[in-house]
Amino acid sequence: MNLILLGPPGAGKGTQAEGIAKKRGLIQLSTGDMLRQAVKAGTPVGQEASVIMEAGGLVPDHVVIKIIAERIALPDCAEGFILDGFPRTLKQAAALDELLTSQGKKIDAVIELKVNDAALIDRISGRYVCANCGASYHDTSCKPKVEGVCDRCGGKDFIRRPDDNPETVKNRLMAYYRETAPLIGYYFAKGKLHSVDGMAPIADVAAQVDGVLNTLAAP
Ligand code: AMP
Repeated sequence: MNLILLGPPGAGKGTQAEGIAKKRGLIQLSTGDMLRQAVKAGTPVGQEASVIMEAGGLVPDHVVIKIIAERIALPDCAEGFILDGFPRTLKQAAALDELLTSQGKKIDAVIELKVNDAALIDRISGRYVCANCGASYHDTSCKPKVEGVCDRCGGKDFIRRPDDNPETVKNRLMAYYRETAPLIGYYFAKGKLHSVDGMAPIADVAAQVDGVLNTLAAP
């Protein structure tokens, strides 16, 4: 099963993608994570991407398309993958279609996480991750069980993404509505779009997504 998670920054794509990937044995492909790794490693792609990411803009299509094309070609993606943060433009969506067709694959479903804009700012500005394992938390809605200690790995260092500041978030939202929101119509027209209420608690959103995926899996 090959899936796409669609939604604005802060909609919960990463959290849901992680859960779905685990449950369904899919590979989670997050272009944001891949680009952050490239920035950290100081590769040429990372150097090109870092200024754009800090400003909340979109990294050029050809850069992310190449990253995804190389990643999807690896054997571990043969059993299925879930894209989180890609495609983000119509050009990326068209390139993905072309790429998958050439490999005899297709996208089975696009899950749109619907959220309200006011909630996004709060969600993004309160979020942080464990510096060691990357587990996600939020200042008010998802604190670790023991304050200051990661539930998953016991780590005690936490970090906030540099692009989660209010100014950059505004730019990221604008980029979403300008470049990415048209993909909702694109996938609707292809009969692939399934929208769920992304404002519900994490477990309820996961249950809604599960319901959609079960109908796909049914004969
Ligand atoms: P994310 O972690 O998905 O919120 O992505 C963080 C940042 O990485 C975005 O604000 C963009 O600057 C960049 N990025 C991630 N995925 C893409 C993509 N598919 N196209 C262009 N830029 C991207």
